[in-house]
Amino acid sequence: MAEPLRKGEQFFRGIPVSSGVCRGKLLVLHRPRPTIDQRRLSEPELNEEVNRLEKSLVQTRHQILDVQRRVSEKMGANEGSIFDAHLLVLEDRTLLDEVVRVIREEKVNAEYAFHSVAERYAATLAAIEDDYLRERATDMRDVTTRVLNNLMGREEEVDLRHLKEPCIIVSHDLTPSNTAQLDKRHVLGFATDVGSKTSHTAIMARSLRIPAIVGLKDVSSRLQSGQFALLDGFNGVIIAEPSDQTLFEYGQIERKQVTFEEKLREVLSKPATTLDGHRVVLSANIESPQDASAVKANGAEGVGLFRTEYLFINRGALPGEEQQYQAYREAASALKPMPVVIRTLDLGGDKFLAHMPIPQELNPFLGWRAIRFCLQERDIFREQLRAILRASAEGNIKMMYPMISGLDELNQANALVEEYKAELRHENVPFDEELEIGAMIETPSAVIVAESLAKRLKFFSIGTNDLIQYSLAVDRMNEKIAHLYEPTHPAIVRLLKATVDAAHQHKIWVSVCGEMASDPVLVPLLLGLGVDELSVAPPLVPPIKFIIRQLKLADAKELSDFALNCESAADILARCQDFGRQVAPSLFETK
Ligand code: PEP
Ligand code: MG
Repeated sequence: MAEPLRKGEQFFRGIPVSSGVCRGKLLVLHRPRPTIDQRRLSEPELNEEVNRLEKSLVQTRHQILDVQRRVSEKMGANEGSIFDAHLLVLEDRTLLDEVVRVIREEKVNAEYAFHSVAERYAATLAAIEDDYLRERATDMRDVTTRVLNNLMGREEEVDLRHLKEPCIIVSHDLTPSNTAQLDKRHVLGFATDVGSKTSHTAIMARSLRIPAIVGLKDVSSRLQSGQFALLDGFNGVIIAEPSDQTLFEYGQIERKQVTFEEKLREVLSKPATTLDGHRVVLSANIESPQDASAVKANGAEGVGLFRTEYLFINRGALPGEEQQYQAYREAASALKPMPVVIRTLDLGGDKFLAHMPIPQELNPFLGWRAIRFCLQERDIFREQLRAILRASAEGNIKMMYPMISGLDELNQANALVEEYKAELRHENVPFDEELEIGAMIETPSAVIVAESLAKRLKFFSIGTNDLIQYSLAVDRMNEKIAHLYEPTHPAIVRLLKATVDAAHQHKIWVSVCGEMASDPVLVPLLLGLGVDELSVAPPLVPPIKFIIRQLKLADAKELSDFALNCESAADILARCQDFGRQVAPSLFETK
């Protein structure tokens, strides 16, 4: 959209990080680099200077805790936790000792010492080709500005709290502290020179639902305050002085967007029921107990997949039984009485622990991963199973094993569960005696022996991400063969059908929690094949619910009958696309 530049327009393309279209006056923030004077101090003044530094660090800490509290209240605990990284900067002994050393050895003022040391750290981090480390540089600069302001008794230079009229903010960068001040009533959108999809500012924009673009290179020096502009957060485009024609075209998009979002809001509290009265269970996939609020906010009916590996990754040591118990219990209690399906550890493949080196393998996806790893690393598995069993006392937990490839693995895992249940009984620790156990169906062998598995389980959850890669022998991470990764391959359609049939024959339910469930084009096919539950990322619950409510199961069955008799992946996909566009055209128009 709007790619052809029209007369008088200034057009910039960056990275879209938060969707939506807005239009309005620009407010371009020019942040003059603070001039930091260097003052020479005499020997007797040095102790006082170090004291002054320490006082400003305490003051900064209070300010950050205050912003953190406000952000957590306004946007949620996850966004608030962004400021943990800022607090860590203030606790970084290497940095602070270096600042004190510079004050004492070079006999200079605290502002100068702090600025020069912190800027050296930040510049090193910013130069590394890694979004995560670059983000640490932004954190470092954000904290540095606060410390310097406090040392110099200055007000914040960028104060976005008192904007008089709605505007689109353009800036070289927006720190999380700046973003936390944004008032949704006055900030229509924002655009920055630097940043990435995973930057904290981007994350906050998404949760504020403010359209945003980052990575626009030099946009802040090419645009001026007061100019009128259009910001398209779907495509990452900002157009200053848009022509009438461009405004007209975007007007149509905005209208569709508004009506579509209203439609999505309407379905939030409604059930995922098809037009002909068939009830589908629509759940969400989560990675931490903090995601529970997003599950509720998006109108999901519980958790169909709690990926527990994220409690293990990104930390210095393994989480023990107690820590895991608290996390599982917290998720279950926040969502009660809705069910929470906890998947046991799925490490290996592309998920590794920084603190536990796993031997390099030629084929990690075919190697020591998931249930195979757990059945050998018994201590790790025991702690997790005991933690899940203890949390199951909440009453709404179910558990499933990943990557079961045959009956032996299931029997071994179930035997361990029985052993740990006996331990807990002996210790008088409560747990849910009726805890339902299921398995993920992710390998072709599991589909082939699905009847044997179904007899011993309460449910199946199909992990289509892996099932497709293993069945079609297409590495899900390899871009070169991505075109061969076809969810509508006739083999996949038939494997799905075989899994559903085996489950229903043994009167157990089947869910799909892989990405296939979150593609509105493929949802009618899954429902037609008889899948009972879909589980998708929380923000995708509303559009998936929308399409479910727009279709008739009878038509979806016709679609799946066609797919089961068809020999071509492309033909099945085309038919699914036609079906989607027919039943829910608005779902395919706004992007
Ligand atoms: C899957 O394989 O479809 C799945 C949901 O598991 P993961 O993506 O975590 O491997
Ligand atoms: Mg998987």
